[in-house]
Amino acid sequence: MKNLLTIAGSDCSGGAGIQADLKTFAAHGTFGMSVIVSVVAENTSRVISIHDIPSQIVADQIDAVFEDIAVDGIKIGMLSGADQMRTVSEKLRFYRPSGVVLDPVMVAKGGRALMHPEALETLKAEMLPQAFLLTPNIPEAEAITGMEIHTVKDMEKAAVILRSMGPRYVLVKGGHLTGDAVDILYDGKDYRSFTTERIPTKNTHGTGCTLSSAIAANLANGAEVPEAVSAAKEYVTTAIRHALPIGKGHGPTNHFY
Ligand code: PLP
Repeated sequence: MKNLLTIAGSDCSGGAGIQADLKTFAAHGTFGMSVIVSVVAENTSRVISIHDIPSQIVADQIDAVFEDIAVDGIKIGMLSGADQMRTVSEKLRFYRPSGVVLDPVMVAKGGRALMHPEALETLKAEMLPQAFLLTPNIPEAEAITGMEIHTVKDMEKAAVILRSMGPRYVLVKGGHLTGDAVDILYDGKDYRSFTTERIPTKNTHGTGCTLSSAIAANLANGAEVPEAVSAAKEYVTTAIRHALPIGKGHGPTNHFY
């Protein structure tokens, strides 16, 4: 069994963040571990507050995992500010895990920022160069590149710019456009598009977290990048199709359907 680590934020309502990551890891037959960077008091409707874990404790959690257990795959999610990014980046440089899947989480569906906007430059300088695969959605790709994205062609242009910032692969997720959900994978040479039909539901809390964790698990389980992405997208689509009508807002995806 492969050992998977998520470094991210905790969603007490269980639909996104660390909780979604661990459920996804379990659903992929892997052993899940978690380094909690921020505790987010949130539910399916809103974010109430965010408490950042002190940097030393984040660093200690990473040491605790790496000094004892072989990490076969790693996903990085919510890093709320520049301090958190610097702490994680320093540890990545030290332990050099392969296959880092970086989800540059910025804003929750309800509109609340999960990353301080002033940390954007640190994200670019410290985190992007350490990513094997970067998985921005359209607003995140726009924030990082500074360009507007309206079409699949725009997504391809953004992927080129994003890849020039360091990641080996870029997956721009097109769920924020209209029509089918088209994601574009760029490896520096070719584009591959992955298309699934749009599922009419409001229950999509935690989809981004789930996708990046599923990719990390698939990679650790031996898949090549395009297959890892394709299988993860199928998994998320099924999880959305059978999403749970829990809570008053955006219900969580169903990891074990
Ligand atoms: N809360 C945490 C802790 C997250 O890491 C994320 C990840 O994107 C979200 C919320 C976002 O959830 P949503 O899918 O509702 O935007």
